Amino acid sequence: MPRRSRRKPNICPYCGVEVEKPYKTWQLVAPIPDARGRITITIMGMYECPNGHKWRAVVSKIKVGGSGEVEVEGAKGKSVLKAEEESKAEVEGEVFEIDIEEEL
Ligand SMILES: [Zn+2]
Repeated sequence: MPRRSRRKPNICPYCGVEVEKPYKTWQLVAPIPDARGRITITIMGMYECPNGHKWRAVVSKIKVGGSGEVEVEGAKGKSVLKAEEESKAEVEGEVFEIDIEEEL
């Protein structure tokens, strides 16, 4: 799977400090399916570094539907999402557990 960026979402863009996980996450569901009939769910996170900087970043992207496959694209591993109750995407009555492998 090609990846466009290796930038970690949990690195402070102001001072470069790496934080453990976002203090808040939420999902953005694309209203229009892609060419293959899949819906893209973007998991966003709010981060705060020890120096008081706050920023938003894309934690991961999930594509569901179409062929029935679930495609997960994430920069940071499951330790981030596992801790969050919101780390479940509900699509058309089905619940998908988000379980992203650490990519190094
Ligand atoms: Zn900072």
